[in-house]
This record gives sequence, structure tokens and C-alpha cells, in this order.
Amino acid sequence: MSTTSFSKKTIGGVATIEPALTPPPIATTHPTFVKKTKIGTGKSKTRKRDIPEGLWTKCPTCMTMLFDKELDENLKVCMKCGHHFAIGSRERIHSLVETCTFEEMDATMAGVDVLKFAAYEGKLERDKKATLLQDAVVTGLCKIGEHRVALGVMEFGFMGGSMGSVVGEKLARLIERGTEKGLPVIIISASGGARMQEGVFSLMQMAKTSAALAYHAKSKLPFISILTQSDYGGVMASFATLGDLILAEPGAMIGFAGPRVIKDTTQAELPPGFQTAEFLLDHGLIDAIVPRKEMKPQLIAYLNFLTAGKKAAAS
Ligand SMILES: [Zn+2]
Repeated sequence: MSTTSFSKKTIGGVATIEPALTPPPIATTHPTFVKKTKIGTGKSKTRKRDIPEGLWTKCPTCMTMLFDKELDENLKVCMKCGHHFAIGSRERIHSLVETCTFEEMDATMAGVDVLKFAAYEGKLERDKKATLLQDAVVTGLCKIGEHRVALGVMEFGFMGGSMGSVVGEKLARLIERGTEKGLPVIIISASGGARMQEGVFSLMQMAKTSAALAYHAKSKLPFISILTQSDYGGVMASFATLGDLILAEPGAMIGFAGPRVIKDTTQAELPPGFQTAEFLLDHGLIDAIVPRKEMKPQLIAYLNFLTAGKKAAAS
């Protein structure tokens, strides 16, 4: 491995990313990831900078060195053991929706540091630059298979995917648009919870998103919640656990408070696998674990099932 010119790719990668979320016109039926994006997560960006050219990533589960290009082509799932690495919201959308069908909503909505919370504004600016997003969620209407859906995808790279006023407002508007247009809603979460820098304003988002979902449910429309990476706090205590179907990616960490806090509070040993998707499937919180590469066909199958009654009534 040579140690030269590793920054070129980073700069080039960022420079060639278009800000619009509409997938680029690719002549294949499935979206591919030819273009190397460096904006998936703030974390991976820092990590890549430390690794010299050659671009390998070590799998934290099986310790295999994985060639980044192959890892990207495999939707950031370890080719050897199936470990799911973090994936950015854009790549996630590309992997799920039909080419050129994503119509983004509220792309320019940005947060304000109302409370003048220490260092918040600087962090917002830093993550806007790192992710090329205005906040921690991307929302829009799109097609998955033959189904038109309202889709929200959270971006963990933007302040840990935390839910402040912008995330809550964008999700509430997405759900309301779904209700208005009679569409299923799908939200893919990756979040540490409420954004503490927005104090009580971030907590209000829990009520807002839940209320919007209640109206959506009243219209007998399905909501699928997909838990990825790690999902905690206010997100789990609101919309993320309100799905008619709650799915998770393998190995996702899911809970309200983190394991260390629980251990310190209860002074009890936690069971093995505590708060993993697999543990929660066994205990009934989630309905299915779906590997990333099977997510799109599985979602289409679930949508076929969930909308069958509506279609029959319409015909
Ligand atoms: Zn692995």
C-alpha cells in the first residue's frame, strides 16, 4: 500500500456529488454505485482520511480487510460475514427506489440555534458541509417497485441522526403528504434520539410525528418503520416504534437508554445480545430482520400485502 495522494479521492468524491437527490440517469434497471460517495457518514470520512491509498476497510466483526469498491458495490455489507456497515441516506435511497422517481421535499429546510446552545451552530455548519444535507433526514415521494410511497431516510452522519425541529417537521410533513395522497409511509431510522441542543423543542417532535402518524393510520394507510445502525431515545419513543410493520437490519442496536446507563442504574448484568435487533426479534418488539440486500424485494412484498385490500376495493 502506498501512502501518497489519498486526499485526491476524497476531494474529488465530494466535488462530484450533485446536491440534488434525484438519482442520476443510469441505463441499468437497478441503481448502481459507480460513483464513490464520501458523504455517507462523518465517521467514515474521518476514517478514510487515515487510511492510505489502496482503500481497504477492516470488518469489525470478522477482521477481514475489504476492498472499498467491492464493499460499496455490496451496499456496504461485509462480503465475508454479512456485517452491515453504516450507509449514508443518499446511498440508501439509491438502493431502494426506482431510478429518477425520488422527488425530494423540503430539501432546503434548515435548523436555527434558538437556544444559543454551546457550540451548536458550529456543529450544524460542520455536518452540513460533511453530508451536503441541511439536517439529519431526507424525505420525499418515490416509487419502490410499482408502489408510490412517502419515504424518509435519516442520516446518522448529521449529528448522530438526532431529531430536532427540522427532522421532526420534515417527517411530519412527509407523513401528512402521505396521508393526503393516500400513500404508505416508510421511515428508515438511524438516530441517537432527540437533539439535546434544541432542548424542549426536540421533545415536541415526538408528539408531532406521532400525531401525524395517528391521522395516517386513521386513513387506513400502512406505515413501515425500518431500524438501522443504532436507534435510541426520542426516536424510539415516538415514530420508530409506531410501525404497522417494524423491520430491522441485522445487528442494529435498538433501545431507549443505552446499555451502560441501564447497567449503572439497575446494577444488574445484562443478558447476552441485549438491545440487538436479533434479541428484540426474539422478544417481540420487531417483526422481521431484513438484510440490506434483500430490503427492496422484501419491501415490495410487504407493500403488495399491505395494499392488496385497498387495490381490491378500488377495482
Ligand atoms: Zn465481516
